[in-house]
Amino acid sequence: MPLLEVENIHSFYGHIQALRGVSLVVEEGEVVTLIGSNGAGKTTTLRSIHGVLPPKEGKVIFDGEEIQGTPAHDMISRGIAQSPEGRKIFSRMTVRENLEMGAYHRTDDIREDMERVFDLFPRLKERIKQEAGTMSGGEQQMLAIGRALMSRPKLLLLDEPSMGLAPVLVERIFQIIREINEQGTTILLVEQNANVALEIATRGYVLETGTVVNSAPAEKLRQDPKVREAYLGEI
Ligand code: ATP
Repeated sequence: MPLLEVENIHSFYGHIQALRGVSLVVEEGEVVTLIGSNGAGKTTTLRSIHGVLPPKEGKVIFDGEEIQGTPAHDMISRGIAQSPEGRKIFSRMTVRENLEMGAYHRTDDIREDMERVFDLFPRLKERIKQEAGTMSGGEQQMLAIGRALMSRPKLLLLDEPSMGLAPVLVERIFQIIREINEQGTTILLVEQNANVALEIATRGYVLETGTVVNSAPAEKLRQDPKVREAYLGEI
């Protein structure tokens, strides 16, 4: 049984239809990436899975249970966490408080998890008392991912983790994403930078105007002439 199954979802913003029958599967242990141009529906797919924008039609099955329509705040206790595009950390809270918020539904000891986040992102430890809104873009990105990890998710939804980061930091963040996956978290990754995304992903889906037009193992997508031309900046 796959960890996540999205079956033919249709999602709307008012009258605008953003998803026209998206289906995808994420097996436990995988890193799956969604690639596509601006406006293709990548973020909307994550939002629809996560309950921020419940699909009008179709199913989202997580761990064998239908979860479409479950409110976003219940997703975290089911085992789905997200690090949203544009970060959306709590800017007036400190780094520590943000991380604690990520674990708000837990009643057990979270110290170990905080240590794990600090091992992955030593910079956050140095800045533990800093107000999050005053940190750099890259630091806020790290905090958003760290906060998502604090819930010990089975599935981590990552939206554009490389957005606004300097090239060296992009590489670092992807190394960390790989580490997080190796430590046992399944990942669904939305990324503009298809090159790096396909390097760390097991499989990928290509979205165009709200539908999946291609899906294959990442290596195969990297060699696909159409993908190379449209998304990898090669002719
Ligand atoms: P990008 O890489 O630019 O973030 P994306 O593939 O993530 O693109 P989405 O953000 O999912 O694309 O957008 C899919 C479609 O839905 C687009 O046509 C977009 O204009 C539309 N859309 C997204 N958010 C809203 C909104 N809040 N209200 C109305 N339309 C929206």
